[in-house]
This record gives sequence, C-alpha cells and structure tokens, in this order.
Amino acid sequence: MKRLCEARAYSAKPVAACYWASTTDTPELANLTQDINTEIAIIGAGFTGLSAAHHLAKRGADVTVIEAEFPAFGATGRNGGFCCLGGAQAKNAQLDKRYGKVQRLAYRRSEVAAVGLVKTLLAELNLQADTHSSGETLLAHRASDCDSLKNSRAQIKEDYGVEALFHSKSELRQLGMQGPFHGALTIPIGFGLNPRKYAYGLLSSAVKNGGKVFVSSPVIDLKKAGETFRLTTPQGSITADRVIIATNAYAAEDLPDWMAGRFMPLHSSVIVTEPLTPKQIEAQGWSSAQMAYDTRQLLHYFRLMPNRQFLFGMRGGLFSTDRSEAAIQKLITRDFHTMFPAWKRVKIRHFWTGMVCMTRHQIPFIGAIPNLSGAYAGFGYHGNGVAMASYAGAVLSDLVIGGAPNFERPKLLGTQPPKFPLGRYRRHLLAPAYALKYLQDL
Ligand SMILES: Cc1cc2nc3c(=O)[nH]c(=O)nc-3n(C[C@H](O)[C@H](O)[C@H](O)COP(=O)(O)OP(=O)(O)OC[C@H]3O[C@@H](n4cnc5c(N)ncnc54)[C@H](O)[C@@H]3O)c2cc1C
Repeated sequence: MKRLCEARAYSAKPVAACYWASTTDTPELANLTQDINTEIAIIGAGFTGLSAAHHLAKRGADVTVIEAEFPAFGATGRNGGFCCLGGAQAKNAQLDKRYGKVQRLAYRRSEVAAVGLVKTLLAELNLQADTHSSGETLLAHRASDCDSLKNSRAQIKEDYGVEALFHSKSELRQLGMQGPFHGALTIPIGFGLNPRKYAYGLLSSAVKNGGKVFVSSPVIDLKKAGETFRLTTPQGSITADRVIIATNAYAAEDLPDWMAGRFMPLHSSVIVTEPLTPKQIEAQGWSSAQMAYDTRQLLHYFRLMPNRQFLFGMRGGLFSTDRSEAAIQKLITRDFHTMFPAWKRVKIRHFWTGMVCMTRHQIPFIGAIPNLSGAYAGFGYHGNGVAMASYAGAVLSDLVIGGAPNFERPKLLGTQPPKFPLGRYRRHLLAPAYALKYLQDL
C-alpha cells in the first residue's frame, strides 16, 4: 500500500484528543482473521463506506466493510459536524463552462438532497446526534464582503431554491453573534450534529441488516482475478464480486492504481473548549446556536454546541509532523483568541487534526472506476462531506446494484478526476496555493 503523507497522518496521534471520542463509545468489532467471500466489499468505514453499507444491507445485499483502524477513524469521526451544503470547490462559472448550467443546477440540488438525506437517516434510524442550528451563517470578515454576500442571494435562490437572509452588524449583535464580523448571510439549509453518533448509527443499521464490518484490518493489496476482486489484509482476505473504494483523503496511490495522483489530502484542525458559563457567553456576546463560518479563503468554522462547549475549526497546515501540528495548534488558538477575545482564559480541552480531500477538477467523484469493471469509488468532498459523503454512499449503493436509481447522480459527479501534476510530490503544490489564499484573506 503506497500512501502519500507521513505515517503519522494515518496513526492515532492526530486524533488522540478528539472531543467526539468522549461523547460515545467506539463499537467493538473483530478484525479479519479468515479468508471470506462477499458480494460487495467496501474499503473504509467513514460516511461514504457506512452510508453505502447501510443502503446496500437494507436492500438485502451481502456487504462487508473493511476498515484499517476503527469505525469513523478518518475524517468522519473527527470533523466539525457541519451537515451543510458543499462538496465541490469549483465555482458556478467553472461548472457552467465545463458542464453547462443544467448540470450545474442538478449538482447544486444534489447538495440540498444530501443534507435532506442525513436528516431523513437521523429520523429513520432514531439517532440522537445532538443536532442544532437552522441552516448555516456565513460571516463577513471584511466590510467589503458584505456586498458580495448580499449579491449572492439571487444565485443562492437559483442554485438551492431558498431565500438567504442578510444580517447587518447591529442585527448580528441582537442575534447573539457578536465578533469581528461586518455582516452575515444565513442560508436556511443544514444543521450541526455529532458526527460519531451519526456514523455509528449508520454502522449499527448496516450490521442489523446483515452487513459485516471488520476493523484494524488495512487492505494492503487489491487485485482483480477473472471476475472477482481479492482484497488482502495482514491476517485474512476477502474475495468479492464488486468493490467500493471509500478511503477519501486516507486513500493509497495503489488501491487501486487508478487512484494514483487523483486525490490531494489537505489538513484541517479543530479545538473544543470547556463548557462556557452564562457569564462567559454574555461577555463575548456569542450565544447563538447557529453553525457559522467566515468569508476567509482559509476559513474558520465554529459553533456553540448544545452542551455549551464551543467548537472552532480552521483549514490549513501542510504536513503531519509533531512540529507542524504544534505550529497549527498555536495558530488556531491565536485565531480563536483574536476572534473571541473574551474567551482568552477559557480552557481549550481538545485539539485534533485530520485530512480532507481535494480533486484537481474540484468536484467530488462518485462513480465506476474506468477500465476496472465492478470497482466503484466516492471521494473528494473538499471538506464538506458530512452530507455529501453520505449522499455518495447512497448513490454508490444504486450504482453497484444497478437498475432504476433511488438517488439522483448529477452527471458531473461521474467525471473522472484528472491527475494532479508532480505525482507523489504533489503536496508541494500546496505551499504556494496556501500563501495565495492567505494574501487574499488580508
Ligand atoms: C478536521 C476536519 C473537519 C471537518 N469538518 C467538516 C464539517 O464540519 N462538515 C463537513 O461536511 N465536512 C467536514 N469535514 C470533511 C468530512 O469529514 C469528510 O469529507 C468525510 O468525513 C469523508 O468521509 P469518507 O467516508 O469519504 O472518508 P473518511 O471518513 O476519511 O474515511 C476513510 C476511511 O478509510 C479507511 N482506509 C483508508 N485506507 C484503507 C485501507 N487500505 N484499508 C482499510 N481502510 C482504509 C480510513 O482508515 C478511514 O477510516 C472535515 C474533515 C476534517 C478532517
């Protein structure tokens, strides 16, 4: 298995102090110690893999999930819990130019459907996932961003079919969203959730419906022999008719070889404070339950959770070394204190990092792997995968089973991601890209 980042990125270290681990027990599951047969093998137990497993098992398929570490070990078990629109990084102008307006609109509507799917799953599976927030609020970090927020309302209406609401600086104060913000826009789609509670609910449903899940069993080799796939793990193997690659940023270049160069892992980090007292909340003037983020390119995302602990996340960071993580921890703490100065003395109880996945064409891929009949993949949600990866899993279940789909897949999501330049050295492209974004944020 050829991986792209430092071994540390795939270890337990970056996620050791993750807040979500303290909120729910990790399901105890066996590792694979035999040679088994299955109809559909899924590599990776994150939202993509678990949603696919849930949907496939519910339809009576014989499905086996195989996970290198523990369920939701990857981005799924360590994200900010924003169940929101998004998934692509490409702007409307690019989408229109490449695929046409009809396809762009179909894609935008799939973002709405993805959020709706998570809401439906939480209700159907009766999951208590600490949800809150009525949509998402985008905060202007520069006065000049207010005009673009106002102007974006027509586009939001066209893309998502909803009215976004602009808030002036003084309205923000009344709404309990005080800070260094000049105005904001609320899009009434999405909500915050506890990602592990949701992920483990999907897992439990897959298992209840007959699916099998093995943990601590990295697939180290994947080969097609005749009509079947053989997945090798350190202590066992799986022979499968079809396979779904659900490894996103934690993917390997050679599982299968088609993945090489088609994904780019990017870092994101999160801190969570101790529970805030009513006095502390009043002192800062942030009492809103809205999940929010700012207009920076290297954005900050934050939300006051129902138990009054504050979650604050940030994109950035180039490598997974002790040194770079220490630097990111310093940076995220500094930015948190700059934006919420009244909370300088509040204890930060948790800090962790993880990897999100970018594609070169800046849209997710959900589809069949070309020239490898029976193999499918879903990845590249650009840091917005709570909803979109869940949707990808549902779409993949349709594609694998065939026949009339239950979930619409906009055509552009099946476009093969081109390879990044520089092969396995491609992460070196990130330093200048981040520098540019940093300058744009000034
Ligand atoms: C810090 C952070 C904050 C984020 N915040 C948000 C947010 O607020 N909202 C949002 O929408 N999105 C957010 N995201 C992104 C979101 O979490 C991801 O897009 C989503 O979880 C991707 O799910 P996935 O199942 O595709 O991949 P992952 O959850 O990364 O799962 C991939 C799994 O594959 C396993 N795997 C890899 N290789 C192998 C192998 N060879 N054999 C077996 N298993 C293997 C890994 O161990 C891993 O468990 C965030 C991500 C991070 C890192």
